[in-house]
Amino acid sequence: MVRGLEPLLAGFLAGPEPGVPRAELSPLVEGLDRLPLPEKKARIEAILSALDRWAAGASGGAVSGSSASLGPARALPPSPVLAAAPRCSPPAAARLPAAARPPISRASAAASSPAASSPAASRPASAPAASSPAASRPPTPARPPAKKKAQLTLPSEAEPKPKTRGAPRRSRARVPIETAGAGLALLPLEAIEGVGPATARHLRDHGIETVLDALFWLPRGYEDRSTISKIATVVPGELAVVRARVLHAALGRGAKGRPIFEVAVGDGTGTLSLRWFRFHADSMKRRFVRDRELTITGTVTAWGAMRQMVHPEIDSGAEESADLGIAPIYSEVDGVRPKQLRKILQDIAGRFAKRIEDPIPLSLRTKRGLSDLARAVEKAHLPETLDAGEDPDEAVRHRLVYDELFFFQLMLARRKKALAVIPGLSHAPRRPWREIAQAMLPFELTGAQARALDAITKDLATPRPMNRLLQGDVGSGKTAVAMVSAAVVAEAGRQTAILAPTEILAEQHAATSARFLSAVGLSYALLTGSTKQKDRREILARLANKELDVLVGTHAILEDPVLFADLGLAIVDEQHRFGVEQRAVLRTKAKGAAPDVLVMTATPIPRTLALTVYGDLDVSILNERPPGRTPITTRILKERDRSEAFDVIDAALAQGRQAYVVFPLVEASEALDLGAATDAVLDIRRRFPKHGVGLLHGRLKAEEKASVMDAFRSGALGVLVSTTVIEVGVDVPNATIMVVENAERFGLSQIHQLRGRVGRGAHAGTCLLVVGGGGQDSWQKLAVLERTDDGFLVAEADLEIRGPGELLGTKQSGAFGLAVADLVRDRAALEAAREDAFALAAEDPELTRPEHAKIRAEAERRHRHEHALIDVG
Ligand code: ADP
Ligand code: MG
Repeated sequence: MVRGLEPLLAGFLAGPEPGVPRAELSPLVEGLDRLPLPEKKARIEAILSALDRWAAGASGGAVSGSSASLGPARALPPSPVLAAAPRCSPPAAARLPAAARPPISRASAAASSPAASSPAASRPASAPAASSPAASRPPTPARPPAKKKAQLTLPSEAEPKPKTRGAPRRSRARVPIETAGAGLALLPLEAIEGVGPATARHLRDHGIETVLDALFWLPRGYEDRSTISKIATVVPGELAVVRARVLHAALGRGAKGRPIFEVAVGDGTGTLSLRWFRFHADSMKRRFVRDRELTITGTVTAWGAMRQMVHPEIDSGAEESADLGIAPIYSEVDGVRPKQLRKILQDIAGRFAKRIEDPIPLSLRTKRGLSDLARAVEKAHLPETLDAGEDPDEAVRHRLVYDELFFFQLMLARRKKALAVIPGLSHAPRRPWREIAQAMLPFELTGAQARALDAITKDLATPRPMNRLLQGDVGSGKTAVAMVSAAVVAEAGRQTAILAPTEILAEQHAATSARFLSAVGLSYALLTGSTKQKDRREILARLANKELDVLVGTHAILEDPVLFADLGLAIVDEQHRFGVEQRAVLRTKAKGAAPDVLVMTATPIPRTLALTVYGDLDVSILNERPPGRTPITTRILKERDRSEAFDVIDAALAQGRQAYVVFPLVEASEALDLGAATDAVLDIRRRFPKHGVGLLHGRLKAEEKASVMDAFRSGALGVLVSTTVIEVGVDVPNATIMVVENAERFGLSQIHQLRGRVGRGAHAGTCLLVVGGGGQDSWQKLAVLERTDDGFLVAEADLEIRGPGELLGTKQSGAFGLAVADLVRDRAALEAAREDAFALAAEDPELTRPEHAKIRAEAERRHRHEHALIDVG
């Protein structure tokens, strides 16, 4: 993954155009990666000089060439310097003129030291930052954007040179220097002053490989650091900038003996404690010399009466100016301090942002009212270059958000296109699906179920792989739809795999299969991790003989020895536990053509999110409840009113009903949570001595779980206490009460799914949410559940409260690689970007048309690490 500098630079040599000083460059590039740092820097200098000369020469010749077909280079500053520069001019002539740099508004411009290490140098216009030539170098030559490999590997590997007559070595279209996006995409980070090999490696690990990547590592927010506060007035919980002197610095030990570096600073009004948990002791001791004056930026926390900051940013007084003003805040890059990262990115933005070429065609920009991309990127990194009254956020956001969403949707659209051409299976059942459904189901389908089956069976009939998401609230009847689909495929002579995320859910599906599939004479088996060897062997044999129509199971189905005679359909329950890779493995389970895939999710996903996550799937929604459902009443209880919950359970038990009590399980303190549940079981047993009370938790063996579940299903247990959510994925119509303990620790959608487990039968369900902490906030948050029974409304609220990552079970924020777009706030932009991206992909899926060359290059740059997904589907 980590690529060296040499292959990147070697890419420059691929273009054998007249101006390229190949003979000069080759020896410079060779062995570059192995050189010690000073020599490497010197070499890079020399390389950049040579490239400057080439750029100066090449641009002149290229303007008339292909620039017309690539569209107007609007976003660029006029490049008279480059164009007018004589061929082989000295490097200086090719430099970006100071006038082309953004204006500045801060006093740092007065910086007297041009040293690149001073913060002043990071201010774009602050200076002839450039005693070092590299510091003011313009982006260098452009290369064809289409072949990303060619940029990153040696030319000989990337593209064999055609041995034709004529101009034998002009094998690729000449891209003028004006398509600077490509130039920036080639400029390695080591060429930037202040980026050494180690830093470059850290950046590369985060996908920042070139100057263009760095420009699009956009801030995720801004901090106003313009006011310097007195320590006496700082407020816990808020960001503060203080100027203070070091009073004391020492290496200490924290809890569990972990080293802590502590520094006390004072400004005459009070003292502040600074603490680090990750640090190099030696450099810390050197940095925090007694009496040294520092500018300190960080979020204030209270530690008893003491005010402290953890991992604050430090500017030593010796430096000309601290990072005051409006500071962009970036997602962390491991190994690079935030301050250093900001300096690097701002430096790059000041020098190169102007040269970003706009990949979005003018027609789209006009239609969507998009502002200039180069300026948007520049302002995002350098909010201080904003004109008075401009809001750093809104002025640039719209443009950057659109681009991010557009390219994301474009990837999905292209992936969908790619999937569409994969050969699939066409299933031709002996009779129409409605007849099959009638024969197998004891009820009439809802309108939504029928619509879903219409769409599914249409997909099944066409000879391309189905990739459909069946989305619906708990109890909306997805399983019934799945069973009919499996039966349709079976009647067409092929097999179906049904994959569930847990054993209990798999067992649940197997039980449903028993009911429905048997009604039409179809065979099925259950295969999980705990299936006995003997049974397993028999199942595999029957599967291979085509004696089985349906195999229900867990991930065990994806294992090697499981081979279907003729897999036609894979039904995957709960997509977010099954990745793209698993879908690919499924494909290997089928002979030849790809099986159809139906993904079912019980997490109602708001449309915005669905467009993002499942944008490459077709979607069917079950938005109608089967008839005869009794509504669920949900109430929130304070901890001290828990006895009310017991009263409700009591009443239900008296009527012969059953109840669930669910405890949240937080990984970090599993033992503690389990303890709470165990205590609760004892409590509940004391309270209901005449009824069985069972406990279900993740540490039980599969058989133990199964026997607890059986006992609950059979009614032998009146109350089931469970520590985990998943294990409650069961269908016991007689259970009517659900008590959720510490409800504030669950997500809204999670609780919504949980409560769907009660009120499944003829009797009304009640869900009681016991709030154990978190105060007013959690109460308000949970109130949505009291108000509505609609899973989509709940999910919308959840999305607003917790963000998309949590909702989908991916813990990381910034899921889907979206840095600036906010799926709640930017819905309109998402819809627009999606429409445009899908229209483009329909028109030119390969993006091979000349006018789409820039879009293609940018699409590949942005999603190059996800390209495998396009191939895999
Ligand atoms: P989901 O999988 O979406 O949670 P299920 O398919 O398990 O929902 O359906 C929940 C319950 O409703 C099951 O007991 C099922 O048999 C029943 N059911 C499904 N569809 C209908 C229908 N159209 N009419 C009546 N009952 C239905
Ligand atoms: Mg098909």
